Amino acid sequence: MKNQEVALLLNKISALLELKGENRFKVIAYAEAARRIENLPTPIENLYREGKLSEIPGVGQSIAEKIKEYLETGKSSYLEELGKEIPEELIELEQVPGVGPKVALLLYKELGVRTLDDLEKALSAHKVRNLPRLGPKSEENILRGLETIKRRSSRIPLGLALPVAEELVLYLKQFPFVERVDACGSLRRMKETIGDLDVLVASNDEEKAMQAFTRWPEVQEVLAFGSTKSSVLTKSALQIDLRVVRPESYGAALQYFTGSQAHNIKLREIAIRKGFKLNEYGVFRIEDDKKIAGATEEEVYAALDLPWIPPELREDQGEIEKAKLGELPHLVELKDIKGDLHVHTDWSDGTSTIEGMVRGAKKRGYEYLAICDHAQSLGVAGGLTWEKFQEQKLKIEEVSQKENFPILWGLEANILADGDLDFPEEILREFQIVVAGVHSAFRQTRGKMTERIVHALKSGVIHILSHPTGRLIGKRDPYEVEVEKILEVARESNTAMEINSSPERLDLKDRDCRKAKEEYGLKMVINTDAHSEENLDLMKYGVAVARRGWLEPGDVLNTYPWKQLLEWLKGKRERMP
Ligand SMILES: [Zn+2]
Ligand SMILES: [Zn+2]
Repeated sequence: MKNQEVALLLNKISALLELKGENRFKVIAYAEAARRIENLPTPIENLYREGKLSEIPGVGQSIAEKIKEYLETGKSSYLEELGKEIPEELIELEQVPGVGPKVALLLYKELGVRTLDDLEKALSAHKVRNLPRLGPKSEENILRGLETIKRRSSRIPLGLALPVAEELVLYLKQFPFVERVDACGSLRRMKETIGDLDVLVASNDEEKAMQAFTRWPEVQEVLAFGSTKSSVLTKSALQIDLRVVRPESYGAALQYFTGSQAHNIKLREIAIRKGFKLNEYGVFRIEDDKKIAGATEEEVYAALDLPWIPPELREDQGEIEKAKLGELPHLVELKDIKGDLHVHTDWSDGTSTIEGMVRGAKKRGYEYLAICDHAQSLGVAGGLTWEKFQEQKLKIEEVSQKENFPILWGLEANILADGDLDFPEEILREFQIVVAGVHSAFRQTRGKMTERIVHALKSGVIHILSHPTGRLIGKRDPYEVEVEKILEVARESNTAMEINSSPERLDLKDRDCRKAKEEYGLKMVINTDAHSEENLDLMKYGVAVARRGWLEPGDVLNTYPWKQLLEWLKGKRERMP
């Protein structure tokens, strides 16, 4: 599947156009097309073969042409053309917080700065402050931005790594000499960002397994080839390390390479106390070096008198102690989810119809769905007026009846800068479900932002606080907010916290989910915030966050059967002031 690659290409074009100072709409069009393609569930090659490229929303004739050329030749003459005017390296430079396209171009033209290294040197020589329109303050900002980006770029977002890993696993599974294959490391623990992408194979023919790996069509470059470990760089610029072990050691290796390090150190201590040695080959009795376990993970844990521990919990956050006591949580699973309570449609900025979203929900085995489009005040294209919402209500009822499928008529309200919502309370009470979140004025002080959200929650009309901290992983830090205070007021006002499944949000994050449950007794809702039918598939990311937050089905409102969910929603209303 070349979707990530094509998205990368279009993003590059968009960034170069922006640097060049091209028409804003053109810049956005390329970025938007990239975003759509990144989220496509079908391989773009298939759409190309069927002549359906321009049916992708956001992909017009001219962009389709560029995709076509790239898929046919592996290159883009348009990108090469642009690259002659503006070096591609400036794209990275421009992304440093505090730089942006104008300053990047200035740095390049005035100081010859092309790379992050160049920038670092220019900064330490205090050359940046003397550029036109810049000064010591901007220099300081850029320096801070550079530090941030260095911190970020070392880790890969889960949403980027998981699809690639899943595809590689599928590819390797087809070979008869591959007995088992799993992604391990932080990916298997479903951390929000991944350090190294590690994949493990069980095989009795290492050579063949390695050859199959390095010949994977997505491989751009083989960085290292060995009989037990090889590394490649994919066309989507990810490094993947593959290890091959014998089937009799697979469980031990999988356990070892899944980590976390802290979890494994504790396990090794337990092993030693029992007179065992634990490593990537198995569990061995120290006195005679006899192997006791190793083929499966269950066997490895059992040798240490522990039940198998789900990878998402392996962070040494108390899971080993709980496992000893037989008190591990029964973590929520994707199959427990009975509906999505925050999706958009083409009535506001989504791309699918109400019918389309319902079809998608049914296909995923859901029992209900909540349509929560934006209101007009948000300023997104097509935000709805109260009149439009009333019209939508009728449409929703009609579809619900026709499809014999419960749909909640809701909205995603905007928490305005002063904590008011974008409709008066009497109107918001008309909706069956109110999701609300912060979508603007992110840069308030900690006190102001906290007060703003507290004020909104205290209105009593909000069922679910969407994406509670506003972060975009690797792009925007969470806004300054006192999370504990929000959780406390959520408890008082009986508001559920959203776990937004969009891989760039994953908000609330795992640690805060656990806190919300254990310290505040809150309920959570795992939503996709899908703007298209396909994006309903993002639910698995939110479920992963919930699992890392130790949540059980009972903690998650959208595992409730329809009737019980309705009762919760109404109960919230009755407790309103
Ligand atoms: Zn939102
Ligand atoms: Zn939304």
